[in-house]
Amino acid sequence: MSENTAMNFNDSPEELAYREHVCQWLQENTDEYRDIDFQSMTEHEELPYSRRWQAAKAAAGFAAIPLASELGGGGGTAMQSIIFSQEEAKYNLPFYGYFSIGLGMAMPTMATFANETFKKQLLPKLLSGEHIWCQLFSEPSAGSDLGNVRTRAIKDSDDWVVNGQKVWTTQGHLSDYGIIVTRSDPSVPKHKGLTFFFLDMKSAGVDVRPIKQINGESEFNEVYLTDVRIPDSQRLGNEGDGWKVALTTLMFERQAGSEHSLGLLEEGDVMDFLSSITLDGKPALDDSYVRGKLADWYVKMRGLRYILYRRLTAHSSGSVPGAEAAMGKLVEAQATLDMTRFCMDLLDLNGIAITGSAFKALPKQVKTYLKSPGIRIAGGTDEILRNTIAERVLGLPQEIRTDKHVPFSDVKG
Ligand SMILES: Cc1cc2nc3c(=O)[nH]c(=O)nc-3n(C[C@H](O)[C@H](O)[C@H](O)COP(=O)(O)OP(=O)(O)OC[C@H]3O[C@@H](n4cnc5c(N)ncnc54)[C@H](O)[C@@H]3O)c2cc1C
Repeated sequence: MSENTAMNFNDSPEELAYREHVCQWLQENTDEYRDIDFQSMTEHEELPYSRRWQAAKAAAGFAAIPLASELGGGGGTAMQSIIFSQEEAKYNLPFYGYFSIGLGMAMPTMATFANETFKKQLLPKLLSGEHIWCQLFSEPSAGSDLGNVRTRAIKDSDDWVVNGQKVWTTQGHLSDYGIIVTRSDPSVPKHKGLTFFFLDMKSAGVDVRPIKQINGESEFNEVYLTDVRIPDSQRLGNEGDGWKVALTTLMFERQAGSEHSLGLLEEGDVMDFLSSITLDGKPALDDSYVRGKLADWYVKMRGLRYILYRRLTAHSSGSVPGAEAAMGKLVEAQATLDMTRFCMDLLDLNGIAITGSAFKALPKQVKTYLKSPGIRIAGGTDEILRNTIAERVLGLPQEIRTDKHVPFSDVKG
């Protein structure tokens, strides 16, 4: 747990003033999006709106609130960023997810490790939504255990030549740049022989192949890298220090994850949905089983809200949330699956009949149900989060790691 776990439910006077400033700006700048049906748009149709909204936020200093103002950010705090996200979520706006890896992970990593030229050249375009970035970490045999990365980088004069395969690369098909972890030295233990770069996704030898998902979308990809040349100037951190850089990136991801919403029930979606359904000719909300389910979820969501308050309190006092993020994500991902599965059951056959473009017209609960398994994997699987809680909250011993001190080239697998 983070050190300061005493909860504070209220904005400080400074936070309140900031919230008022944000509310006013949002009121003045969101009118043009109010009546647009983004839910029914394809990615291709929605992206220009997302870029326009992102550019407006960048111009007003809201695109990357904690980033130093000399780098184009808002020069604010993590807490201010959370306040902005909370208020922004109240409006009908285009999907911001195209930029979330760039802003949440690539941008702070670049701001910490890239040289000044690249920072000046690339960060403004990332902030304004002109460029999309992806994260090339996972591979067929490296996911939960990122230290198993096999994509090979070999130094050749002023370049590195990279060969290998990445997978689950969200927005890879739309991306201009990516951050990538590679194996530069297999003769040392696995966490010591990694090197981190940023990569131009239009480089020769980068082959992005979309993966078709159960929900009909293709938001993530396989990325094959064949003799891709990355200039040494695009190395982030020292040669062999890729693990440290990756941990910094993942810490930023955890920080960004702290801004997650509280789930469907709190947002009123499930209540609205259940109010619109009848069971045996009566409103579903009158059914005692449905009411029991609602009560269970309500208790869970209240618990999540208090965990969120712990995270916000940690942010507000300037520290990074610890195991609270793992607890919140574990419960929320499972509850989301449970709630949406129940809603789908109530839709009877309509809940499972999905054909082609009909996906766009599905109720939000069904769409979310189809994404739920992914939510339980991305950013740490349920089992990995349980390990984190076991070790950091319950103080149980760490898992035994037999390959920790063995040269990577000697590790079987
Ligand atoms: C929607 C989505 C988006 C993603 N986007 C990206 C992206 O943009 N970039 C990127 O690089 N990656 C991305 N990923 C990949 C994601 O980071 C990995 O899927 C995740 O880390 C799990 O790795 P894995 O799939 O290799 O599963 P594995 O790590 O192989 O796990 C397989 C199973 O074993 C369990 N397991 C593994 N280790 C342990 C352990 N020590 N103790 C107990 N159980 C264990 C896991 O919980 C899981 O059930 C995305 C994934 C999803 C679902």
